[in-house]
Amino acid sequence: MRLTRDMFVRNGLDLCANAKTVLERRYLKKDSDGKLRETPAQMFHRVARHIARAETAYDENADVRKVAEQFYTLLADFRFLPNSPTLMNAGRRLGQLAACFVLPIEDSMEGIFDSLKNAAIIHKSGGGTGFSFSRLRPKNSMVGTTGGIASGPISFMKIFNTATEQVKQGGTRRGANMAILRVDHPDIMEFIHCKAANAELNNFNISVGITEAFMEAVRDDRTYDLTDPRDRRPVGTLNAREVYAALVEQAWKNGDPGIVFLDRINRDNPTPGLGEMESTNPCGEQPLLPMEACNLGSINLAKFVAADPGSPGIDFDALKETVWTAVRFLDNTIDMSRYPLEAIDRMVKGNRKIGLGIMGFADLLFQLNVPYNSDKALSVAEEIMGFVQDESHKASLALAEQRGVFPNYEKSRFAGDSRRAYRNATTTTIAPTGTLSIISNCSSGIEPLFALSFVRTVMDNDKLAEVNPHFEAVAKREGFYSEALMEAIAGAGTIAHMDDIPEAVKQVFVTAHDISPEWHLRMQAAFQKHTDNAVSKTVNLARDATVEDVRKIYDLAWELGCKGVTIYRDGSKENQVLSFSTAK
Ligand code: ADP
Repeated sequence: MRLTRDMFVRNGLDLCANAKTVLERRYLKKDSDGKLRETPAQMFHRVARHIARAETAYDENADVRKVAEQFYTLLADFRFLPNSPTLMNAGRRLGQLAACFVLPIEDSMEGIFDSLKNAAIIHKSGGGTGFSFSRLRPKNSMVGTTGGIASGPISFMKIFNTATEQVKQGGTRRGANMAILRVDHPDIMEFIHCKAANAELNNFNISVGITEAFMEAVRDDRTYDLTDPRDRRPVGTLNAREVYAALVEQAWKNGDPGIVFLDRINRDNPTPGLGEMESTNPCGEQPLLPMEACNLGSINLAKFVAADPGSPGIDFDALKETVWTAVRFLDNTIDMSRYPLEAIDRMVKGNRKIGLGIMGFADLLFQLNVPYNSDKALSVAEEIMGFVQDESHKASLALAEQRGVFPNYEKSRFAGDSRRAYRNATTTTIAPTGTLSIISNCSSGIEPLFALSFVRTVMDNDKLAEVNPHFEAVAKREGFYSEALMEAIAGAGTIAHMDDIPEAVKQVFVTAHDISPEWHLRMQAAFQKHTDNAVSKTVNLARDATVEDVRKIYDLAWELGCKGVTIYRDGSKENQVLSFSTAK
């Protein structure tokens, strides 16, 4: 069965060509010959029905069919989508529905290889894994049982990388890892340069775990202690500014390492009694305890613009309804997911974290006529995310009245506060929505568009300019649309210097490289203020940006209260995923 346009129209789904391709390749059920066994509408039914079944655990008279219909409508209208593993696995044999995991790595051969095995099982199901390698003894330490010499965290990262490479050959997606090393680990300098030095770490994002003590030492130009993770004994010192300069320079060179502010992440840990958060998931938006997992879902903001074209606004009533249904959906997902380990199952069901976020933010700004790089855009961001955050908390409170608070509630920061008697230890996270945004044909996460128009080569080698629908509508309305212009835009990547386009349009339709790094970061900080977990964002820099520019961004991330930062300087990786045809 190949999907035809008819099938979508018949099923009431309006999917773009890219969405069809993605779904056919990886999401829809296939038989053993690789033939498709479901349509996208059937996929949404499968997911909606499966997730609705959780209702019976709380109410034996629950109207599961009605709830399933409600969920189906949300998905089929592309108002909300759960993370990829839920779309792929709900109602199927594997049944693992979460995108984010953090696994502990103990300082023993057994511990390391247990974790490796668990990571492989998680990757097979489409989940991504984050690890802190900070507990491993440094390179060249003694190994007690053999009298030999330890090879250190980076050598073990290579093994995890190789395993990921092998699993991805047979799995549904590539497999993604985050490695974090604390800045006070003795191997920190090797870690900072490890990706540049080792092509075989390509399945890892890496981030340095920054502490308050380290940032203070940078500020005061002091040395700070390196400690042995086994007994926290100081085993050396480094100059904080030199380490900071090294990591900034390496990030300037090729994007890695990012940084995560560990103390800040732990300040917001809802259950500190259960342990410390040492790592995030692969894209950085979800800090978790060791053995914890979280399922994410994203609301497509492009669908919530109130109809009046004269003065477009946000349809808050509709948004509220979607937030409430999405929280219920994500809470149900926890019960319906099959976790790869008993310990993970216990932890997830104890805290019941969910991560509701948004996508299509740039599309929303286009519709509201607001430039991404403006104070107005920051206030739109705060207003919307503040609303999503408040409503998700209220929805979680209401769910707790029906279903009970999360089991670890009494051990949490919220204990004894009836206004925060939640069903879920966290409710909000802003994910990258790499695939979800393709499926819903909207801009990804809170990112600006990379290009307003790009040229796609189709099967018979024809080249077609694909244009952002909001830009296309405005171009037609304002009378400057032409195929030739759209192709020229695809080549240039920006309309900033095009004389034929009205100034007011140029101001609103800005793309990633028209926006200064400071605006990228301010937007991340605006969203972080109203997000329980963290925010996935890449701060884009021009090819000719300096090391000093990168340092300013890292400093600003610290000042503005972000939980971490990832930068990317145009052209600084060999196999850049997206580029303009004129990129030099
Ligand atoms: P999607 O749009 O497919 O739901 P996102 O791009 O929003 O996924 O990523 C969310 C999280 O899903 C990531 O931070 C990571 O934990 C996990 N993830 C994303 N891509 C992969 C991958 N290729 N393999 C494993 N996990 C992934």
